[in-house]
Amino acid sequence: MNKNLYILPQLPYPYDGLEPCISSEIMTLHHQKHHKSYVDNANKLLEKIWEAREKNLELDFKSVLKSLSFNVAGHTLHCLFWVVMAPTNSGKNQPSGKILEAIENEFGSFNQFKKEFSQAALSVEGSGWAALTYDKENDKLLIMQMEKHNLNYYPEHKILLPLDVWEHAYYLDYKNDRVKYIESWWEVVNWEEVEKRFII
Ligand code: FE
Repeated sequence: MNKNLYILPQLPYPYDGLEPCISSEIMTLHHQKHHKSYVDNANKLLEKIWEAREKNLELDFKSVLKSLSFNVAGHTLHCLFWVVMAPTNSGKNQPSGKILEAIENEFGSFNQFKKEFSQAALSVEGSGWAALTYDKENDKLLIMQMEKHNLNYYPEHKILLPLDVWEHAYYLDYKNDRVKYIESWWEVVNWEEVEKRFII
């Protein structure tokens, strides 16, 4: 079997690339410790499943699949999170084109979208995410609020822009001030990437 199916990706910018919005210290820990642990755990769980299949062992599916869902989703969301951010001097931090048009059509204005998305992110109970998603079937944008990494999903909605609001994403810089973190995060959104995800 293919060992280590999941791999920790490189960040598309240096660890200090998102300063002053997100410090190098947070980015390093977040990527090298937190994201890595989801990758490692997902790989270990897959190995467990493959081993049970090969050796005909009993497997506690309920517990293994619950944990696999958490870790695979954690890995996937973090991969996305890194690429939908870009340094403030990248020239990619302003929404434009088709994605801006779609946001304005759906929410009335970009400011209204920003307000709703920020509220969704702020009100996540405990650890989780907010995300802008695209429902291709109905050609509709929708905000999603996830608890942990894997609860409250709309299946088949494409995640265009996820925001990590676990405390590990901001505590060192902002303490418990999630509002300030969210406000600051808007400055490092990579709208070029969000639009690419939307139109592909
Ligand atoms: Fe995280």
